[in-house]
Amino acid sequence: MAKSPMVSDPEITCTVCGWTLPLRVPKCKKCGKPAEVILAEYESALSRYRRYLFGYSRGYTEEQIVMGSQEAEFHFKRGKEAFQKGDISGAEQHFTDAVTLFRNFEETHHLADMAWYYLSKVQMAQNKFDDALRSIEAAIRISPDDVSFQQTEKYIRALAGKQRVG
Ligand SMILES: [Zn+2]
Repeated sequence: MAKSPMVSDPEITCTVCGWTLPLRVPKCKKCGKPAEVILAEYESALSRYRRYLFGYSRGYTEEQIVMGSQEAEFHFKRGKEAFQKGDISGAEQHFTDAVTLFRNFEETHHLADMAWYYLSKVQMAQNKFDDALRSIEAAIRISPDDVSFQQTEKYIRALAGKQRVG
């Protein structure tokens, strides 16, 4: 039986000296760097890349993505403050800015789904049920397993139904 390429010895390039080491070797033969440290560096680079993949795919640099995400976080915080003070239209503007920035730079940012969730709440508070439904659906697209998002969606659908009948 022919050997599958999938079971061949996996190799990794040393991040210090560039030597190719098989993964069964505990450290780089040339510079002594432990294989697990090399792997951890690849993993963290990969997870950073995954986090920014959306921004990269749109041609943004890492710096632009970080700046865009920070600006989005800023609007998210201002939106929550405005919401707590009862400034609903101010909150809506900040959350709209936040979701737009997250959507452009870092769609999977840990606050991206929450920004959509809060936007749906301020839209609900203004009886904008269709907008609120679109927003909570966007939150669910990012975090499909979030139970509170699913409950909010049901709630908005019920409210929107009532609105149409009344
Ligand atoms: Zn090395």
